[in-house]
Amino acid sequence: MATAVMQWPGSYCDTKQSCCYPTTGKPAADFGIHGLWPNYQDGKYPQNCDSKNPFNPDKIADLRSSMQKNWPTLACPSGNGVGFWTHEWEKHGTCSESVLDQHGYFQAALGLQKQVNLLQALTSAGINPDGRSYSLSNIKSAIQETVGFTPWIECNTDTSGNSQLYQIYLCVDTTGKNLIECPVFPRGKCGSEIEFPSF
Ligand code: AMP
Repeated sequence: MATAVMQWPGSYCDTKQSCCYPTTGKPAADFGIHGLWPNYQDGKYPQNCDSKNPFNPDKIADLRSSMQKNWPTLACPSGNGVGFWTHEWEKHGTCSESVLDQHGYFQAALGLQKQVNLLQALTSAGINPDGRSYSLSNIKSAIQETVGFTPWIECNTDTSGNSQLYQIYLCVDTTGKNLIECPVFPRGKCGSEIEFPSF
């Protein structure tokens, strides 16, 4: 199985570490992809599984504009995304290479992001990226109700120390195509009310 990790850019950027927009421009105010991480049923995951299969941008040339839009790098200094995608492929993607080749891996993640449409799930429940606080359980149920599966929510803290919605984790079968219920959830560090910052 695997875990699809989606990220709110506003919560990456308003932290102590801060962020740099990609060379291709400020990302949309939408959940971006962080990665698709193969993992075991107990929540542990393998890493860096095949150093002989390095990331090759030529293999995903047709996905590149969609990747720039939906899988934006926010690390500093500003980059074009290749560094972030290389890291995700080499650390995580190589661990499912028997099922998903490079093109299949990135395509699967893009397909999942589109399928779950997290921002729409939240805004349709009145949960908006407006810097206000929302209850963690309302966030979870809004996603549960539209996506059909329970997410795990990861929080981080802004420069003032407020707990905020950072990443959303959803479990996927080994093909990377179908959502499943997560067999385990790690212990969370969100408060019961968390901020949803603007971007
Ligand atoms: P995290 O555990 O969420 O801090 O992320 C693990 C690694 O991915 C760290 O090295 C982060 O700096 C990096 N990372 C997370 N999100 C992004 C992003 N949007 N762009 C570039 N690097 C990222």
